[in-house]
Amino acid sequence: MKLLPQEIIRKKRDGLSLSADELTDFINGIACDEVTEGQIAAFAMAVFFNGMDRRERVALTCAMRDSGRVLDWKPMNLPGPIVDKHSTGGVGDVVSLMLGPMIAACGGFVPMISGRGLGHTGGTLDKFDAIPGYQTNITNEKFQQVVRDCGVAIIGQTADLAPADKRMYATRDVTATVESIPLITASILSKKLAAGLDALVMDVKAGSGAFMPTLDRSVELANSIVEVGNGAGVKTSALITDMNEPLAPCAGNAIEVQLAIDYLTGKSRPARLHQVTIALCSELLLTAGLVTSESAGKQELARCLADGRAAEIFSKMVAELGGPKDLLDSSAKYLAGAASAPVVKTVTAKRDGFITAIDTRALGMAVVSLGGGRRRAADKIDFAVGLGDLAALGGNVQAGDLLATVYARDASSVDDIVRDIAVAFTIADQNNGSMHPLIYPAIRAA
Ligand code: URA
Repeated sequence: MKLLPQEIIRKKRDGLSLSADELTDFINGIACDEVTEGQIAAFAMAVFFNGMDRRERVALTCAMRDSGRVLDWKPMNLPGPIVDKHSTGGVGDVVSLMLGPMIAACGGFVPMISGRGLGHTGGTLDKFDAIPGYQTNITNEKFQQVVRDCGVAIIGQTADLAPADKRMYATRDVTATVESIPLITASILSKKLAAGLDALVMDVKAGSGAFMPTLDRSVELANSIVEVGNGAGVKTSALITDMNEPLAPCAGNAIEVQLAIDYLTGKSRPARLHQVTIALCSELLLTAGLVTSESAGKQELARCLADGRAAEIFSKMVAELGGPKDLLDSSAKYLAGAASAPVVKTVTAKRDGFITAIDTRALGMAVVSLGGGRRRAADKIDFAVGLGDLAALGGNVQAGDLLATVYARDASSVDDIVRDIAVAFTIADQNNGSMHPLIYPAIRAA
């Protein structure tokens, strides 16, 4: 006999394990509004305190995936696997914009459903919204057609994919239950799995700008996602990558799109960004079975960058989704980029020394304060604002050296923001040597 939602909550409250049927009933009840917001909150808090074993996590993830439509690619007979990458988010993390076309150039098909900025982190969707005409809100049919024709499409969440997550996340957000590894795992994976993937690589960030508060928690989340993704039938691996400083030397929307274009066309490939992009791409190629070794993957990736195929695919995707056909050649004309932000200020070092720490979260919040992110869901984004010329961790600076350039809309609050950014850089006499690995060893299926 079916248990009432309150009986399911009681079982979890008392530390018992829930069956797949019980979890499916509860999640279906969320999707059709039969389970109340209070019940979602109580369930989330019970899971927060009592956790879930691997079997429950897989069942919860599959139930949330199946609460809406799951894309079916079989009728399209595509000549390659359906693959994607997901990141827990960070500052200057523009990897998705390059990874999608690079993987497509190597034979994968990438239906990337991306999100808006959350808290201090930037959102891929907001970056694409900086491209005039580009449609991030399209039907599943158009989405699948663009993936078929270009090998990649990067869009926003459609309402019919994993609808239970939308309700559950909104309740978790206001009931202090976001920070639960089983719930984060199910939330992230249900949306990714609804896209009908064969393989997924997860980028879990660690450090001062990461969503997870400690390296141990990042490792825990990465292990959970790899276990549950594989348990749900999708080849899944994870990399933990460093977010103790912005991944790129800039942060904002138009400014990051410009960097992605410069990366794909070979004009500029900042070292940290390049290493993480190549590592995630080659891990995905390997996980999906498109290559048999990391070195073969790296060779393929170098080729698709050198011969311009990845750039061509990006350009084709932008045009197919309504953006300008000549974005790559005439980006300055289209992007409300750094050059057009009316107020430009520099942040400089107050003393000589080494940059021994960067409060990456504070830099992300500076972008939000400039108008490049949202404090409330309804806020409008200013695509032209952002940070450039960001100094790197470990750098040796003299008083007066540049730490960042600030591109702002108006002068009224910029001085406060400049001050916050200066404080985000710790400069000391000694380089304390506590540099963090950029990329930790891959976490793969057991
Ligand atoms: N991102 C998600 O999509 N879900 C979570 O629970 C946390 C981060």
